[in-house]
Parts: sequence; C-alpha cells; structure tokens
Amino acid sequence: MSQRTFSIIKPDAIRKGHAGAILADIEKAGFRIVAIKKLFISKPQAEGFYYVHKERPFFESLTTFMSSGPIVALVLEKENAIADLRRLMGATNPANAEEGTIRKKYAGSIEENAIHGSDGEETASFEIGYFFAGHELV
Ligand code: ATP
Ligand code: MG
Repeated sequence: MSQRTFSIIKPDAIRKGHAGAILADIEKAGFRIVAIKKLFISKPQAEGFYYVHKERPFFESLTTFMSSGPIVALVLEKENAIADLRRLMGATNPANAEEGTIRKKYAGSIEENAIHGSDGEETASFEIGYFFAGHELV
C-alpha cells in the first residue's frame, strides 16, 4: 500500500547547492513529490519540530543549525515510503553511511547530515502536519 513520509533537505545541503541533486535522487528512487516548499524556520519552530530530542545533548546545537538557513520541506509518497527513504538517506553519521546514499554523497558531519526522514508512521503524520495544511497535499 502506498504510504507517505516527511523529509527535509537541511540547511547544509541547500548552502552547498545540493538541493536539486537530492530531489533527483529521491525521484529516481520512485518517490512522488506530494508537497514541496522552501522556507526558513525560526529557532522555536525547530525546537517544536525536534521536541522528541529536547533532552539530548545535541538539541541546542541541532535546533540552531536547523534554523541557520533555508530548508526544503517535502511530503513524499510510494510503497513502503518511510523505510525506503531511511534506506536512501543512509546512517545518521555519514561516516557510517552506505555507498550511494544521500548522506554518504552530500553530508558533512553527524549534525550537518543533509536530510531528515520520518522514522515511523506516527512521526510522519506529526511532521507532515507541522509543515503542511491538508489542502497543500496534492
Ligand atoms: P533525522 O531525524 O534528522 O532524520 P536520524 O533519525 O538519522 O535523523 P536522530 O537520532 O533522529 O537521527 O537525530 C536527529 C538529528 O540530530 C540528526 O539527523 C542529526 O542532524 C542530529 N544529531 C543526531 N545525533 C547527533 C550527535 N551525536 N551530535 C550532533 N548532532 C546529532
Ligand atoms: Mg530521527
């Protein structure tokens, strides 16, 4: 069954000019782009998005980074979208990411790792709703 997931092309990838290449990789992997927008989130908006990580030592640095420049927010659809996007992204730390994955190709560090992808169905619905209204999903 077709499934939706949420993704962000992070500020590091936008700054380095990799947004187009990452979108091409995503489409080549069979995802349909349901919604897309480039935007700049504030630090409080980044804190709300990464709320589940608020007790983690990297929370402060991560939310500063995520609000340091424009991002591209995406809703993506395909069979098994959540797991397949995580596989296409590669490991959180690009040093451990498999060859051919987005993080292997474009990420610079464990924090500035180019892309976000939802890690489950519940997070996907929360994250889609955080960035998009229902009428924007087409
Ligand atoms: P994402 O949620 O962005 O898709 P992920 O699920 O692979 O990534 P999480 O554990 O959810 O990884 O961490 C969220 C984000 O926090 C990471 O993508 C990365 O940008 C940052 N991060 C994770 N671990 C560290 C760390 N040890 N040091 C610095 N930043 C980190
Ligand atoms: Mg995560």
